[in-house]
Amino acid sequence: MTLVAEIKETKKQPVRGMMDNVMEQFNSAADKIHLHPNIRKILSITNNEIVVNFPVKMDNGDVEIFRGYRVQHNNALGPYKGGLRYHPTVDIDAARALAMWMTWKTSLAGLPYGGGKGGIQLDPTKYSQSELERITRRFTFALADNIGPEHDIPAPDVNTNSQTMAWMADTYMSTRPPAERTANQHVVTGKPAGSGGLEGRDRATGYGVFLSIKFWAEKKDMCLTGKKFIVQGFGNVGYWAAHFLEKEGAVLVAVQDAFGSIENQQGIMVEDLLDYTKANKGSIVDYPRATHIKKSDFFATNCDICIPAALGNQITSENALQINATLIAEGANGPTNVEGEKILLERGVSIIPDILCNSGGVVGSYYEWLQNRNGELWQLDEVMAKLEKKLRESFNKVHDYSEEENLDMRTAAYCLAIKRIERAYIERGIFP
Ligand code: NAD
Repeated sequence: MTLVAEIKETKKQPVRGMMDNVMEQFNSAADKIHLHPNIRKILSITNNEIVVNFPVKMDNGDVEIFRGYRVQHNNALGPYKGGLRYHPTVDIDAARALAMWMTWKTSLAGLPYGGGKGGIQLDPTKYSQSELERITRRFTFALADNIGPEHDIPAPDVNTNSQTMAWMADTYMSTRPPAERTANQHVVTGKPAGSGGLEGRDRATGYGVFLSIKFWAEKKDMCLTGKKFIVQGFGNVGYWAAHFLEKEGAVLVAVQDAFGSIENQQGIMVEDLLDYTKANKGSIVDYPRATHIKKSDFFATNCDICIPAALGNQITSENALQINATLIAEGANGPTNVEGEKILLERGVSIIPDILCNSGGVVGSYYEWLQNRNGELWQLDEVMAKLEKKLRESFNKVHDYSEEENLDMRTAAYCLAIKRIERAYIERGIFP
């Protein structure tokens, strides 16, 4: 299939149902902990949904109108926090579901944040770098005071990166009164290290995915050396997770991205594949040291560990039976739907749920926010050590609770996350 045909295929994929998925996961955990009915009502809806339409001048002089979203689900524990995604599948349903996942994730990680998410419905491969810059700056301007360093703090997500965050921070700061400009640097996290970013934020999510797998293996007395793994999505999360797993001795045997799927049971060298994608418009297609496989065969690849690190709703009842891995480590948000999960759990496959597995990203973002707020500069080794300590605590908390209550890890993670928010509401009451 050509690159263009593969992208069209991606666009057709259903994202409807992400909201059903997150609500089913929430309700099942809420039942388990007998969540107070009033708090269930509050957490079942989003606080604010901002939809902005804005014009941007294209390189050829034409004006195009874009639609951007920011959904703020809940801020009982602190400012809204969550990524911005540039993808054709971004819509209000996806933004709502992803914002809810952020609320559970920040609560579980013990951070002083709530949950938000947003993005723009677009295919970034169709735009030049200067068009993407103008789109980002105009989107930031349109969001105006709906974001802010103590109110709602975006971060990178699919098809956005540290460059996107640098443009956002610069636009936000440039539109403040002069005396407030530099004090607003922490309006976004995931910035480049030279512009207020945190050393190590780039790898924080993938490192967290790797650590979750390592902690899981330790509990099973399992050594990761020689274990085969597959990665869906070779972007920020997928690449860094693969990088750290390979360093630990595990072997990457298949990769899928938006453009194609490849396999080599003898092993695919992670850095070599990264170099190839850099020279190939970001795509793994036609990588010479692996074989092309069909998109539909990817999850059936022979392996021990499967890391979905692309989009939501990828592991479903359609392919859960074919999966060979004994562990799914969810780098992406919402990659496994409820039906797919039921099949996997019945088959004895373990799942490290997204809100735990990929929480290294938001923990790294929290450190960046603190660094900016306090006018500090942290070293890489310091950041990595802090991340490991924090993520080990979270992993142990979820693991122990799941054992004590005889729950799967996702339900255990949800129960712990929701209980923390419930306590905040009970202590504070409802205004007025
Ligand atoms: P990215 O844009 O850097 O990479 C996304 C990758 O997924 C690319 O390789 C792309 O080709 C691939 N992809 C897109 N559509 C695909 C499809 N239909 N099938 C297979 N591959 C496809 O994005 P990222 O930041 O690595 O985010 C990946 C996932 O991780 C998302 O679900 C995101 O919400 C989640 N996540 C990201 C962070 C972060 O810090 N970046 C934190 C937590 C969770």
